[in-house]
Parts: sequence; C-alpha cells; structure tokens
Amino acid sequence: MRVVTDITLGDHLRGSTHPESPERVERVAARLRSHAGIAIVEESFEADDATLALVHPQRYIDIVARECEGAQGKAPLSTGDVLVDARSMTVARRAVGSVLRAFEGTQRDAAPRFALVRPPGHHAEPERGMGFCLFNNVGILARHIRASTGARVAILDIDYHHGNGTQALVGDGISYCSSHAWPAYPGSGGPQEQARSESGDLLLNLPIDPRGISTEGFVALWERVAGIVERRLRPGAILVSAGFDYVRGDPVGDLGVDRSAARSLARIFAQLAGSLGVPLLYVLEGGYDIEHTVGSILEIAAVHDRGEADASDAAPSAIPTHLREIFERVEQSR
Ligand SMILES: [Zn+2]
Repeated sequence: MRVVTDITLGDHLRGSTHPESPERVERVAARLRSHAGIAIVEESFEADDATLALVHPQRYIDIVARECEGAQGKAPLSTGDVLVDARSMTVARRAVGSVLRAFEGTQRDAAPRFALVRPPGHHAEPERGMGFCLFNNVGILARHIRASTGARVAILDIDYHHGNGTQALVGDGISYCSSHAWPAYPGSGGPQEQARSESGDLLLNLPIDPRGISTEGFVALWERVAGIVERRLRPGAILVSAGFDYVRGDPVGDLGVDRSAARSLARIFAQLAGSLGVPLLYVLEGGYDIEHTVGSILEIAAVHDRGEADASDAAPSAIPTHLREIFERVEQSR
C-alpha cells in the first residue's frame, strides 16, 4: 500500500509536548518504511486559497494565515483550541495537498492509499479551526471530487471523536457517517443528530458510551454502515477519516477497541469500494499512540495488499441497543 505524506508535515508545532506532535507523521513514516509492503511516497504541494475555499471562506483563510505569520512561538488560534506557529499555515496547505495527491493516485490505478497527514481536519468547521484542526482536509477533498467529477462522496469517520467540521458539510452530494464517543469532545454527534437531505445525502451519527464498546460490536456497526452506504447511497468515492484514537490505550481517546479492528474495518471498506467499483482513500485524523497508528496502518495494508482477511470478527448482537435502534430508523426511512 502506498502511504502518501510530506517531509514538511513535522514542521507544525515542532518541539512542543502537544499530543498532536510531529512524531505522528515522522516516526510513523520511519517505522512504516521498514515494512516491505509499504511504499512511503512524498507527493504533495501547497494547496492554494482557491482550494481551501472549497470549504473555508476567504476571511477564515486570512485569519489563519495572519495568526500563523504573527505567532510568537506557539500560540492559540483565535477561533478555537488549536495551537499554531509560524510554519503551521504552510504545513496545513501541504496536508491538503498530500490528501489531494493521494486521491489522484487512487483514481489513476484504483489502489487504495493512506494519506498520512497532520494537522488533522475533521473538527475544522468552515469558519472555525478547533480540536487540533486548521482546515478540513477530507472535506476539501470531498468538495474537490464533487466539483471535478460530480461523483457523490461518502465520508466514513472511525475516529474516537465526532467530526463536527465534516458534519457541517453534509448535503449537495456529501454524506457523513461517524462512530464516536458521546458525550465527549466536541459534544456534537448525539443520537438525535441524524438527517437525510432532499438530494439523498445521509448524516448518520453512532454515539458510543465513552466507557467503550467491544471490538466485535465496533466492527459489526461498521459492517452495518457499509450495507447502508452500498444499498442506499451508492457513492462514487469512499473517504475514510481514519483516526486511531478509538484503540485501547490511546492517551487522548480509548474506546477499549482492539488494535486488530483496523484489519476487519479495512476488509469492510475494501468490500464496499470493490462492490461499488469506486476509489477508496484513508486520511489520518487523530490517534496519539505511535505504535497503535503504525500497527493499524499495517493491518489496513495487509488487507489491501494481500487480501488478508480473517473470518469476520463482527458480532451484530454486540451492537449496543441504542445504535441498533438508530440503524433501524435509518433503514426504515424512505
Ligand atoms: Zn480524535
């Protein structure tokens, strides 16, 4: 599997003790490089304002640019809880560039890729950076796909946290399905936040008790999401917001889920993209344990490179009752 990243992505918040650290790409890339099946490719560019503006109004882009340029050391962005320094704007542009390049590659040869990028993006709302995020990487790609191909896009978010920024983009051909701890940061994504737009786009939130969920239940709920996406949405592209802070032991998240779940999830996503015949791209969101991130990416690569898929460890009966009720409501709706 090709892992697309950029050498400069470690320059944002270098030298800080912040959990969203340069090591999340630099050490992960270094560890992955030693694995035969992984090709680390540096394919990036600085996304320009017009690209960022697919999601973010120019006045917000200007705020980020100005505050990064003027930052003395590391300073909080005025719109929310994300630290920036003088290099952050450039790094954030290159993160978006890496995601776009990774998708181009996947379109070219139909092989799924993993975009190993930071800062993450799913908390970034159009006019508000927050939650360690400046620009909504996956959202910008989704809008880019809409504009360039007209294809409908499904964003599947496995991160521990709810992607409030991505949810804000649902509609006009973009659907968003997320499993996440709730109530937890950022507070959105509760059981009542479900929607189906007139154009048929879906907002599906699967809030999980922050005390955790069984690995079998976690995998089973994504199997069920995949069925809904396949039968009802039939998107032209699958984007996975891949945050690994759901893994047991993550210092920020931790839903008690086994690291091996990534293999079962990749099998589900591979089957979904395969049966629809559409491109599949993973984009890094959170995940603050280096070993869990490396291990999870290797599990995903094992599925896509060697077709390795053990018998499903999904157990539909392990899906919590309140989530089964949400699924039933969605499946019964028109
Ligand atoms: Zn997260």
